[in-house]
Amino acid sequence: MTESDCLLCKISRGEIRVSKIIETDAVMGVINTIEAYSRGHAVFFAKRHAASFHEVEDWELAEIVRCIKKVVAALELENYNILQNNGALAGQTVFHAHFHLIPKWTDGDGLRYDRSFQSDIDHREISRRLRERL
Ligand SMILES: [Zn+2]
Repeated sequence: MTESDCLLCKISRGEIRVSKIIETDAVMGVINTIEAYSRGHAVFFAKRHAASFHEVEDWELAEIVRCIKKVVAALELENYNILQNNGALAGQTVFHAHFHLIPKWTDGDGLRYDRSFQSDIDHREISRRLRERL
């Protein structure tokens, strides 16, 4: 995947017609008209190509969050999910980091997910490793 054939880079360059709802110098928010989980499902991303969350600059992330909060306020949302997937195993299908804002208007629309939890995880080991590395 190069920037020239990246869907979100093409959108940010104005090469694909989208329903743009918010834009700054570095960030864009568009309505997801292709794979919407609910009315108002929007996608936010930095215009600069970065495949994953950890590759997006901190200031770009801050600007994305500001844009998401503005849209949440404009829609007067009380119930919504913010979804951000990284890597194919995690469900990322467009490899330009982006955030989904998914309104939950009713119990039947919006994001639905499996609430099954793993009980066989050694949390002490991962906690110890993280404390050593951070
Ligand atoms: Zn891109």
